[in-house]
Amino acid sequence: MSKAVADLIYPDLTKNYADYEALYPIRTEDDSVYTTRFSPSPTGFMHIGGLYAALINRILAKRSGGTFYLRIEDTDQKRQVEGGVSEIISTLNEFEIQFDEGPANETEDYGNYGPYRQSRRGEIYQAFAKHLVEEDKAYVCFCTEEDIAEIRKKQEEDNCNFLGYYGKWARCRNLPEEEVIARLKRGEEFIIRLKSEGKDGQTREFYDEIRGPLTMPENIIDTVLIKRDGLPTYHFAHAVDDHLMRTTDVIRADEWISSLPIHVQLFETLGFPVPRYSHLSPIMKMDGNSKRKLSKRKDPEARVHHYMELGYPVKAVIDYLLTIASSEFEDWRKEHSDEDITQFPIDVKKTGVAGALFDPDKLDNIAKNCVGAMSGEEIFETVSQWAAQFDEKLNQYISANGERFQNSIPVWHERRLDVRRWSDLMNFYPYLYDSEFDNCSCEIPEKIQNNRGDVISILTDYLASYDSADDSDVWFSKIKVIAEKYNYAVKMGKYKKNPEDYRGSIVDVASYIRFAITSHFDTPDLHQIISVIGAEESIERVSRFLEKLKG
Ligand code: GLU
Repeated sequence: MSKAVADLIYPDLTKNYADYEALYPIRTEDDSVYTTRFSPSPTGFMHIGGLYAALINRILAKRSGGTFYLRIEDTDQKRQVEGGVSEIISTLNEFEIQFDEGPANETEDYGNYGPYRQSRRGEIYQAFAKHLVEEDKAYVCFCTEEDIAEIRKKQEEDNCNFLGYYGKWARCRNLPEEEVIARLKRGEEFIIRLKSEGKDGQTREFYDEIRGPLTMPENIIDTVLIKRDGLPTYHFAHAVDDHLMRTTDVIRADEWISSLPIHVQLFETLGFPVPRYSHLSPIMKMDGNSKRKLSKRKDPEARVHHYMELGYPVKAVIDYLLTIASSEFEDWRKEHSDEDITQFPIDVKKTGVAGALFDPDKLDNIAKNCVGAMSGEEIFETVSQWAAQFDEKLNQYISANGERFQNSIPVWHERRLDVRRWSDLMNFYPYLYDSEFDNCSCEIPEKIQNNRGDVISILTDYLASYDSADDSDVWFSKIKVIAEKYNYAVKMGKYKKNPEDYRGSIVDVASYIRFAITSHFDTPDLHQIISVIGAEESIERVSRFLEKLKG
């Protein structure tokens, strides 16, 4: 086929392939500078594997002084969701994975290599497809879906071991030029297919930066390049975009590894240099005794939103992903606790072939340390922002009690390392943060039930002696007096030697008061809790609890 045919397809194009080559010049001749990209489809939510890939791409580009850009792959119109682009941008922003070029919002782009959404690049793909038709490397195909189904049926009847549009089955591959011209002139719908030069049964070597050399069969299929709607297939768009955006390294999920023969073939057919490919192994999880990929349908932890909803600190999620990417990250982090992750000398080759197992305990540990290392001020800011988005109840609490919230942070932050994520606050410390907290709603635990009489006396004395002006030492000395009065040991050494001489120890006395105020036996410092919730509130709680015990 030829120029005469090429002239008839896509007649309204304003530029040809050479114009585009000139429009998007090579970024740099320096081989050590990376241009990488993250190119998701806006299907509504981001997979944790997507964030992982974006992170690695960004670090590699940044460290080398290169460019990391965002490209939206939205050629499959059926899979789009409204607001999908904003969702991707805000997620990347949330996790501080800045891109140097790409969509700024639902409508605008920034950068010199755009447009950065495939649905706006229709003319570019068509110009390159047209050029391939001109060079007889691609052809016009009029086959309908029914034709394709019929070909498939015949292939099955023939016991063909390879199904698809290729070789003798590729009906439109050798149509006479006059027929093609006549049908195009009649306005028949068409698609553009690659005229594959691949040989059946022939293999060739490909190279993956992580896996090394790979021997795979050549592609023999006359792959669709441009669909009936004028938009490209993923394969064709990948080649054209990654070339024109001057991507040096394609680092993507390993689900694309089987497409490598088609992709390399497309780059070569188009006369483009082939980029370096790295196919990242997926993040796995144990399901019973077997390991499987994290699934967006089955596993909430596959969704990036999950971590945002729970309120994991951004740094914890990112650091955790980097421990998956590199066994050297943890040691690096120990030495560079405040360093930006783009300084980490990541080596994509070392990300490994076996998918890493997602380890929630490890994430939690990293998160606890991360929360522990934050300042009270930072926690205040971060939690306020998180609650405004994800926790209506905590948000209301913070809005109404800003100062109290600020004062509460040291209560759990200074001595314990238990908070992993902001949703823990309401779960672990409802007695601090739940405005509707009711200290009498829980069942009376056995420990209190069995010592009901003592507890009633102790709480009665506590109320009688309590003075909000007491500092923590005086407050505690009064509790000691109460303990002695009811024969609870104040000296733990003595108590341990002869427990039978006592009804219990000071620890038990404190635990009754603690429970009355918080409904928990294990809490941070009780006097600090009282200073946060206020003397009045603490007294009210004890009185109410006492009434409940008496009743
Ligand atoms: N749009 C593709 C996806 O979401 C991207 C593949 C690639 O990175 O090349 O899976």
